[in-house]
Amino acid sequence: MIMKTLLPTSTAGSLPKPSWLAKPETLWSPWKLQGEELVEGKQDALRLTLDNQDRAGIDIVSDGEQTRQHFVTTFIEHLSGVDFEKRQTVKIRNRYDASVPSVVGAVSREKPVFVEDARFLRKLTKKSIKWALPGPMTMIDTLHDAHYKSREKLAWEFAGILNQEARELEAAGVDIIQFDEPAFNVFFDEVNDWGIATLEKAIEGLKCETAVHICYGYGIKANIDWKNTLGSEWRQYEEIFPKLQQSNIDLISLECQNSRVPMDLIELIRGKKVMVGAIDVATSTVETPEEVASTLRKALQFVDADKLYPSTNCGMTPLSRQVATGKLNALSAGAAIVRKELSA
Ligand code: ZN
Repeated sequence: MIMKTLLPTSTAGSLPKPSWLAKPETLWSPWKLQGEELVEGKQDALRLTLDNQDRAGIDIVSDGEQTRQHFVTTFIEHLSGVDFEKRQTVKIRNRYDASVPSVVGAVSREKPVFVEDARFLRKLTKKSIKWALPGPMTMIDTLHDAHYKSREKLAWEFAGILNQEARELEAAGVDIIQFDEPAFNVFFDEVNDWGIATLEKAIEGLKCETAVHICYGYGIKANIDWKNTLGSEWRQYEEIFPKLQQSNIDLISLECQNSRVPMDLIELIRGKKVMVGAIDVATSTVETPEEVASTLRKALQFVDADKLYPSTNCGMTPLSRQVATGKLNALSAGAAIVRKELSA
């Protein structure tokens, strides 16, 4: 099912939701529908977001996270052992306070979480499908643990649960399963000690392609303030790339547009497929196709053309639908410019 198109385009994660489903331009916006209406509403939104990606010429499509409220907690809500009433305020990624649920007992997945949604999307398109799940380290960083009392132990538990879900997503026809691990940009020692190992546990036995998305976050104030402390060069990737290069993960999704990540760091993951973020999700200014092409050309110095996947820096949920559509079009047009240059 994986396309043979050179420079296949995709998005890193979420896309805007229609206003009748959830309040637009808002992160973690609650659903406006309930019960059967919500089930139907999510399916309708999924059709719309697929149509939007198709019209923009996106090659590898996704559900645009129309099926979830939050990239981590929606998955966790479906697990047993987590109490959503018993909330605690914790510091997420050493950066901002958030009220999160507590792990109060052994965690397990009683039933599939996104498998039905993936099956629904599979029926709607013949294109390659990418499906995102939270990574084990980002999951434990979005919880209060009152049971295992060990970040590593809980991460291994989640890795096993993610593997169950991933195997069923693969069976449902998903071509690429992506794990979102923004926490990889923060906890370098843990990433190298057990973070990458737990991720490999999550992909154990899969035959479909696998990806890890490592970004600098949505364009919220806490993230922008953090980025301002990182200096003129963002070298976070350097800490984890050597070990990631040796891992079994096929694709690595990175933030490259308007970021201060030195592009030559990508040399450290030579051999991997790289989803190059060529769209900035922290601004409503729509990139020109030439700006996208310029970022892709820079990346091509360090990634072989057959391994470069033009993408977005992160999810686009907080943007207006008009801006997000403009950015999808720019991504396609920018990739087309470089594709033409490569085949000339
Ligand atoms: Zn991201």
